[in-house]
Amino acid sequence: MDTKVVRIDESHREEASIREAGAIIKAGGLVAFPTETVYGLGGDALNPASSRKIYEAKGRPSDNPLIVHIADMDALPAIVKSVPETAEKLADAFWPGPLTMIMEKSDLVPKETTGGLDTVAVRMPSDAAALSFIRAAGGYVAAPSANRSGRPSPTRASYVAEDMEGRIEMILDGGDATLGLESTIVDLTAEPPVILRPGFITAEMLRQKLGCVEVDETLFSADSGQAPKAPGMKYRHYAPKGELIIVKGAAEAVTDYINKELAEGRKNRKKTGVIATDETVDSYCADVLRSVGKRADAAAAAKGLYRILREFDDEGVELIYSESLDGEGVSQAVMNRLLKAAGHRVIELK
Ligand code: AMP
Ligand code: MG
Repeated sequence: MDTKVVRIDESHREEASIREAGAIIKAGGLVAFPTETVYGLGGDALNPASSRKIYEAKGRPSDNPLIVHIADMDALPAIVKSVPETAEKLADAFWPGPLTMIMEKSDLVPKETTGGLDTVAVRMPSDAAALSFIRAAGGYVAAPSANRSGRPSPTRASYVAEDMEGRIEMILDGGDATLGLESTIVDLTAEPPVILRPGFITAEMLRQKLGCVEVDETLFSADSGQAPKAPGMKYRHYAPKGELIIVKGAAEAVTDYINKELAEGRKNRKKTGVIATDETVDSYCADVLRSVGKRADAAAAAKGLYRILREFDDEGVELIYSESLDGEGVSQAVMNRLLKAAGHRVIELK
């Protein structure tokens, strides 16, 4: 299959391309499209054959449910049993935007789309091209991130092409994703609601609208002894090919420790890399050095993290040390993805 790549920021071509993309979805095909979080791999959410194709193209286990993307609030009632009051409040505040809500599904949504579950994940993205595309596609686009399973989520069209060339009909190229990390997922079928995946809409922001909101305790620990509630979170996503280890502690101790370990790695002829911040990146000796930006700028880290992980793969880096990027708010989402990429390997310096 030839994968057609179309730029969609040239307004004179935009409309025809989006119509073409919509027609592909309606005919049961797949189109990767930009959203503000990461690129999505879209198919018709109401067509079981389309969802099966998505799993196949991703190489993803089919018990891992997809997110149904809508463009208008009017589209919601048809795909859920009923619209909970909590969903109305959150939609008012955060849709369109990087928030996915889990609700009881209606019969219209096939189990192929929900990984066999009776619940459905729904999001309304804010990207204007994404909204036009969803409408052109009939209003319900099922989409996971447009990466092959086990690769970092793609934040630009060329990364989608690396993973999906020849596997899908079309890629809509809308440039770099503005946020760079996947949506926050909140389960509204639980009482109280629980965050299954942290993102740009933080626990604090949700609590301001709903009161008590819990956070799935498996998100930040390696061995809490419980399976995560979002089926997708149990898979080792986001993993670079090299070994990735996070080091926590006082700034100078971290630099010293990492440099010592890197020297050891080089002795063993390993290609080495470091994920650091603007404040510290010059203090390391490694083959590939990357900064996620200023330490206080979690949004910059979110935007750059997946690109950096892909660059380490491209450079064939075998041993990667990362500073811990923990903190409040969006840092929680960044740290959750970094921990997953590292398979929870963390060294805590005293
Ligand atoms: P992705 O689109 O690649 O970010 O993956 C979608 C994420 O949403 C995965 O982690 C899924 O497990 C999660 N998800 C989708 N639907 C549900 C659901 N009904 N219940 C719990 N988690 C879900
Ligand atoms: Mg994904």
